[in-house]
Amino acid sequence: MTVHRLRGLMASTHLIETPDALFLVDAGFFGHASTVLRAIKRLGRRPEELRLVVVTHAHLDHYGGLAGLRDSVEFETACHPHHADVLERGEAIVSPAARPGWESYVKLAYHTMDWLPVRGTGPVTQLADGEDLSRWGLPGRAVHTPGHSDGCLSVLLDDGTALVGDLVQGKRLPTLVPELPSMAEDTMRAHDSWRRLLDMGATRFLPAHAAGFTAAELRAVLPRH
Ligand SMILES: [Zn+2]
Repeated sequence: MTVHRLRGLMASTHLIETPDALFLVDAGFFGHASTVLRAIKRLGRRPEELRLVVVTHAHLDHYGGLAGLRDSVEFETACHPHHADVLERGEAIVSPAARPGWESYVKLAYHTMDWLPVRGTGPVTQLADGEDLSRWGLPGRAVHTPGHSDGCLSVLLDDGTALVGDLVQGKRLPTLVPELPSMAEDTMRAHDSWRRLLDMGATRFLPAHAAGFTAAELRAVLPRH
C-alpha cells in the first residue's frame, strides 16, 4: 500500500494505491479532478480502479472537485453522517475562526460560496466511527475526529498512517511544527481527537494543508489535560 500526496490549489488530497484498487482521501477544490486523473495515469493505473473517495469534511477545498471527478469515472463517496446531507445537496459549511485575524477570511469564504459552481456529490455512504474500510479493500478504519468541524473524519490505515484532513494544520514556516487549524468549531475537541488517533496507534500524519509529521512531533505540541 502506497500513499501519494496530490498537491491542489487550495488543499492537497491523498491517493492510496493497493494492488487491487485505488482510493482517494478528499477530492480537493474545483478543478482537482484533472490532477487526480493525471496522477492515476502516471502510476500506470486506470481511473476505473478508483473504488472509494472518502471526504474528510464538507469544506469546499475538500470536496469541490468531486463532481468533476465523477463526470469522468464512477466511484463510491463516503463521509461522516453529520456531513452526508451537505455533500449530497452540494452545499458547504465554513468553520469559525480559531485564530485572531482569521475572522475576515471566514466572512470572505461565506460570501464566496454563493458564487462558486458547487454541485452535489450524489448518494453518499455514511461511515460510522471505527468503521472497517477493508470492506472496500482498504486496510484501515474511519475515525470520527471532530474539532475543526463536528463531522470531521480521519482515515487511519493499518500501517499507522493517519489521513487527517484539517484536524491538524501541517508543518509550515516559520515554526515547522503541527498546529491547530486556523478555523475550528472546538479546539479542545480537536486536541481530544489528536489524542485519540495517537492512542489508536497512528505513527505518521498526513494533513491536507502543509507538510506531514510524526506522532512524536504531534505529542510534543499536545497540551496536557
Ligand atoms: Zn476544512
